Amino acid sequence: MTAISTSIFELLKIGPGPSSSHTIGPMRAGYDFMERIRELPESDRNRADGLEIRLFGSLSATGEGHGTPRAIMAGMLGQQPDTCRSDAMEQFCEKDRPFDLDMGCRKLAYRTGDIIFDAVQHDYPHSNTMIFRLKAGDDVLLERIYFSVGGGFLRWQGWEEPRRGEPVYPYETMAQLKDHLRQNSIRLHTLVLANEKSITGMCEAEIVEGLDRIVAVMENAVEQGIAAKGVLPGPIGLQRKANQMYKSAKKLEFQGSGFLRAINAYALAASEENATGHCVVTAPTCGAAGVIPAIIFMLKRHMGALQKEIRQGLLAAAAVGFLAKHNASISGAEVGCQGEVGVASSMAAALLSYARGHRFQVTENAAEIAMEHHLGLTCDPVGGFVQIPCIERNAMGAVKAYNAFLIASTLEESYQMVNLDKVFKAMAQTGRDMSRKYKETSLGGLALSVPEC
Ligand code: SF4
Repeated sequence: MTAISTSIFELLKIGPGPSSSHTIGPMRAGYDFMERIRELPESDRNRADGLEIRLFGSLSATGEGHGTPRAIMAGMLGQQPDTCRSDAMEQFCEKDRPFDLDMGCRKLAYRTGDIIFDAVQHDYPHSNTMIFRLKAGDDVLLERIYFSVGGGFLRWQGWEEPRRGEPVYPYETMAQLKDHLRQNSIRLHTLVLANEKSITGMCEAEIVEGLDRIVAVMENAVEQGIAAKGVLPGPIGLQRKANQMYKSAKKLEFQGSGFLRAINAYALAASEENATGHCVVTAPTCGAAGVIPAIIFMLKRHMGALQKEIRQGLLAAAAVGFLAKHNASISGAEVGCQGEVGVASSMAAALLSYARGHRFQVTENAAEIAMEHHLGLTCDPVGGFVQIPCIERNAMGAVKAYNAFLIASTLEESYQMVNLDKVFKAMAQTGRDMSRKYKETSLGGLALSVPEC
């Protein structure tokens, strides 16, 4: 194992929902493959007469409902997750409409409906596998096998870790991270910031700007979601709920149960925007994109938190997300929903504790408590749509994060018997033991017991 060298902006990425591994990763794959095509000799590009795209594993099982073909098409037509319009994928709903792909010297017509849903069970090293082939008759001119490994991260066969700077404070576990904090008498957000500068080469002003952009996209998703009414896209016909929940919170002037209703409303709002395919932030994934925005919105609107405190909280949350990704997983296809909403809740609890100025140990305890009570959570989206149980699950994750914060910040720190390293170890093992049915395949759980529409 090597020290964590993930950037904050790899973990917290802006992009279209509804599922980072099913939309952001595939959109990147589509974009990348067209770039590779344009690097081919012109003679090959002129010979090409077809494109073959095959989806495997969870991408095949739930890709339709998760919008994977639309995301690939948007990517092939030049869209990138962090810069695309919020509604970038909507124009690709028609499966039979051909679009002209730009190969540099000529165009190649391709339809979203041409994408092939291949085997759910396969031998590739990652569940979310995509094969792209540019063909001339039976000749394969270019082939690339991509893996969408969760949280919008994309790898491919032969992928090598890119060269990047070494972290100033290398760690793989929370225990090692804590040693750095103690030995250097620094605070958590300072450590994460120092590592980010060293790993990415960005200056502090650029990092701050990036963090503020992430917060703005999160707040925008909550605001848009609260304002929207009606039914979400897809055959389920699921009603949006955030607007109604928000109104009931407002009626109670956000006091008492009105406060909890507000947290629910904010998480529902961002999740409903995600389900619509609009832009959200992977926190740590699109499916779990409502939890952290709900806590940030609550902190800013109801607890008077300053932007600086939100930034510091986000850096603390990123440290928790790094540890989860490094030592377990943030992919529903690998470990079930404990790795998505569970990790989001853990990150949100850390963010809340840290932004409220609590000691580091309270932050770790809050993150551990939130994670512990998501262990074993399966991923079983009905019809492959990130709607049931995902949207309400985000609301539950946000409320659990708040409760974890209350427990951690009220009780003696020394009462805590489980630490963050232990809970991530348990999460990884639970994920390995979990049946494939419950890992984003829609072959078990609610996906079977609830009729689609
Ligand atoms: S159940 Fe959880 S892991 Fe599965 S798609 Fe929904 S949010 Fe993601």
